[in-house]
Amino acid sequence: MATVRSARWETGSARTLALDIPDWPGHLPGQHIDIRLTAEDGYQAQRSYSIASAGPGPVEISVQRLEDGEVSPYLADVVEAGDQIEVRGPVGGWFVWRAESTAPVTLVAGGSGIVPLMAMIRARGLAAGRQPFRLIYSVRTPGDVLYADELRRRALSDQGLDVRFVYTRAVPDGWPEPPARISVATLNTHGWPPDFEPDCFVCGPTSFVEVAADILVALGHDPKRIRTERFGGS
Ligand SMILES: Cc1cc2nc3c(=O)[nH]c(=O)nc-3n(C[C@H](O)[C@H](O)[C@H](O)COP(=O)(O)OP(=O)(O)OC[C@H]3O[C@@H](n4cnc5c(N)ncnc54)[C@H](O)[C@@H]3O)c2cc1C
Repeated sequence: MATVRSARWETGSARTLALDIPDWPGHLPGQHIDIRLTAEDGYQAQRSYSIASAGPGPVEISVQRLEDGEVSPYLADVVEAGDQIEVRGPVGGWFVWRAESTAPVTLVAGGSGIVPLMAMIRARGLAAGRQPFRLIYSVRTPGDVLYADELRRRALSDQGLDVRFVYTRAVPDGWPEPPARISVATLNTHGWPPDFEPDCFVCGPTSFVEVAADILVALGHDPKRIRTERFGGS
């Protein structure tokens, strides 16, 4: 059983839960945990949540509330510090970044797909890694950006980390372009070129991941270097 140590809002609809998990063996950035909720009548629901944190300390997850969802509104709105939650993990061995890797990295996030990619950015920071990272992060509006302050701070202080936002519904004041979806031009301009042989990590809703991965392949990236994690939905 995990104990919720604390909870904090990242946006108006996404909350980070810090969990104390006894005998936690440590984890690699990109891995997730499975959470199982049991209602008083015995009904159970299980969902996966990527680990946002890196290194020692509580295991953090960030849950985006889906209004019609079964589990996410409970985790985003109801759970409080001190509550106990059934968790299993860490889970997953493919969608992971290893600090020993020297390849440049292109990260492509759609919405809450930023969560495991943030763990990679944090792990690289902890290891003082020199691998050049480029993040392309698609959100509906500026208010939907998770970890906004931390991303801006890290990008400003670290020349090895580029962050490019793509706004699909509303742009910030002064933004030079109208709202748009990620495109060949976005990934071509703001990701690493295929010649650099980057490792590409793509995460978000299923349809977003499929579009982004198709674009990367069309641009000439080796499919073996494109790792994807689909969060569900259409
Ligand atoms: C490996 C893995 C890691 C994940 N990590 C995270 C994470 O870090 N943060 C996070 O918030 N979620 C994450 N998810 C998604 C999470 O597991 C749940 O699917 C999500 O919270 C919705 O659960 P729910 O019970 O609220 O909605 P459900 O009751 O399961 O679904 C409600 C409706 O929303 C649709 N839907 C389900 N998931 C999505 C989605 N991602 N986008 C759009 N529509 C959707 C469903 O098709 C359905 O119509 C992850 C999923 C996987 C597989």
